[in-house]
Amino acid sequence: MLKGLTRAVRWARRQSLWFLHFNSGGCNGCDIELLDLLTPRYDIERLGILKESSPRHADVLLVTGPVTRQSRDRLLRIYEQIPAPRWVIALGSCACSGGIVADAYNVLGGVDQVLPVDLYVPGCPCRPEAIIDAFLRLREQI
Ligand code: SF4
Repeated sequence: MLKGLTRAVRWARRQSLWFLHFNSGGCNGCDIELLDLLTPRYDIERLGILKESSPRHADVLLVTGPVTRQSRDRLLRIYEQIPAPRWVIALGSCACSGGIVADAYNVLGGVDQVLPVDLYVPGCPCRPEAIIDAFLRLREQI
């Protein structure tokens, strides 16, 4: 009985991934690609994936941009407010590794310098199709 319930909860979670977006210091290029997903052209909600504005209601944290000294604490605080189980996706080269600003004085590097990252989506900026693909891969992991 408990096993069946666990399986049902996991299935429901897979079908309704709600994400919170956080820009930790990027140029907004990746953010614009992310916003494309909400337009009728990509319509990510048809896949059960919803943009959420409260960390307490989110399952996935999408981070764009490199982690800077100013954004580090805020990023950690938001991550801690997301109820477990939670997943982190790094969007774009900056979030994956620091990208073109990795050596800047106030940049700590990619998101994995601060948080455990489940999926990396490279690209400068990352394509909307690649972001959808990341969600589908995350579904397989859950
Ligand atoms: S990966 Fe490129 S587009 Fe995305 S935030 Fe960094 S510089 Fe901007």
